[in-house]
Amino acid sequence: RSLTAPSFPTSLKDVFISVKTSKRFHRSRLDVILKTWHTLAKDQIWFFTDDDDLRVAKRVQSGHLINTKCSSSHNRSSLCCKMAAEIMAFASTPDKRWFCHFDDDNYVNIPALVKMLQHFNPEDELYLGKTSIPEPINVLDHIQDQRKNVSKKKVSFWFATGGAGFCLSRPLVEKILPKVRDNAFVATGESIRLPDDVTVGYIIEHLFKTRLTPVPKFHSHLEALKLIPQESFSDQISFSYSTYSDQEQNIVQIGGLSEAKDPTRFLSIHCHLFPGTIKACDRIVR
Ligand code: UDP
Ligand code: MN
Repeated sequence: RSLTAPSFPTSLKDVFISVKTSKRFHRSRLDVILKTWHTLAKDQIWFFTDDDDLRVAKRVQSGHLINTKCSSSHNRSSLCCKMAAEIMAFASTPDKRWFCHFDDDNYVNIPALVKMLQHFNPEDELYLGKTSIPEPINVLDHIQDQRKNVSKKKVSFWFATGGAGFCLSRPLVEKILPKVRDNAFVATGESIRLPDDVTVGYIIEHLFKTRLTPVPKFHSHLEALKLIPQESFSDQISFSYSTYSDQEQNIVQIGGLSEAKDPTRFLSIHCHLFPGTIKACDRIVR
């Protein structure tokens, strides 16, 4: 499909970009996002967090730092609570056609994201993302009958890795809303006992029978990021970073600023894609 020319008139203003974060990452992770890719799409990016923070609120569009009031602990129900808040916020922003979720350790290549979406009809029910495992996941479903007897059944489905980013079209979001609103998403996550991104896959693929469309241009730190060739960066939709161990970082391989000045590589990626657009690029000798 990527060989065909983009054929739908989607533009940046049609996209709702949602970034999941938490109070303790506002400095360590949001600052570099605010310096880089956020500058290209301020009006479309919303941050979903778990506390108020005037310092960040001042740097984003008014109302775009959302305190979900979800718990800030890293457990399933608080992460599912946040994912549900992200999807519900999109649902009540009717001028946007696409919902795209990212984590706060993602770099999002805005033009590449829009270009990818132009290949798909926003009127269709679409679930676009990167699978992290080469097989569908097998899950024990806990089904409760009217007498509250619980039976377990094996179900199998694909899901898109939340840490790479994924997009849902509005018709798909409208369809799954009954399984998102009023705590339904958290309850579903609890019933399969798996993380929020797996719960999204379970709801879309298993409950509503819409198949994931794999888009390999999303990247999470579950892959070896140094394997992405620099010549292809302008085509890639998302990047990430993480630490394998004290010695080794899983980061994108790119020249530019030193690892000391740019440990996430996001400044260097941004200067590579959009030369000269931010001050940090001035320090790069070409
Ligand atoms: N996160 C969160 N609350 C937490 C921990 C993490 O909202 O208590 C968010 C975090 O900001 C990020 C995503 O969940 O957007 C994934 O977290 P992280 O990258 O730390 O862990 P991973 O699952 O990638 O190992
Ligand atoms: Mn992560």
